[in-house]
Amino acid sequence: NAVVGILALQGAFAEHQAMLQRSPIKRKVTVVQVRTAEDLAKCDALIIPGGESTTMAILARSLGLLEPLKEFIRTKVVWGTCAGAILLSQSVENAKKGGQELLGGISVKIARNGWGSQVESFEAALEVEGLRDSSTPFTGVFIRAPVILGLNPAPSDPPIEVIARLSPQCLPRSHDQPERQVTDSSDPRTIVALRQGRHLLTTFHPELTDDNRFHEYFVQHCVLPSLQSA
Ligand code: GLN
Repeated sequence: NAVVGILALQGAFAEHQAMLQRSPIKRKVTVVQVRTAEDLAKCDALIIPGGESTTMAILARSLGLLEPLKEFIRTKVVWGTCAGAILLSQSVENAKKGGQELLGGISVKIARNGWGSQVESFEAALEVEGLRDSSTPFTGVFIRAPVILGLNPAPSDPPIEVIARLSPQCLPRSHDQPERQVTDSSDPRTIVALRQGRHLLTTFHPELTDDNRFHEYFVQHCVLPSLQSA
């Protein structure tokens, strides 16, 4: 079995665990809650959940987990959802006062709470490439979600593969900043799920639905192939 860790410092880690422990995934993985470097050392892959990115980074630092996490990301498989996606990004806008420590690993620029305060949360039906039964849309749950501002892979980085976008019509309107309105479907701000190399990033919360196809995708397309090539 593949050992999948879930960073369990704060946020929606129990919900991710419940998703992995349902069929058809449960026979393929063993789940570990990660709070220490010793827990992390047991894992083949890691999920960083949604929650609050600044708090999570502060907790990770105080537990001596920041460096072990960065090292893990360089060699193993990681999936970040929402706050977890922020932590995996290369740079962040709209960080809290006092700054935001990042783990990095995925070459994107992201904006924390990027849809602004007037529309903090919404749901949208997503078409996701490669998901089982992909003609059935996946419900994206966006809660004070981050927004991808740009993809910046260096020539030596693995390419970025976009696997889900929102159509501009589904996006929250920024009434106070009409010039920031998204109208073009190729705008990076429409991107809500992507892969880079072994890693997966989603700006929404698949663990807060009752559909575990995204978790199945992660195990099938990211975790298990990495064990075969290891
Ligand atoms: N806005 C949160 C942050 O900055 C993320 C929200 C979430 O994970 N639902 O970390």
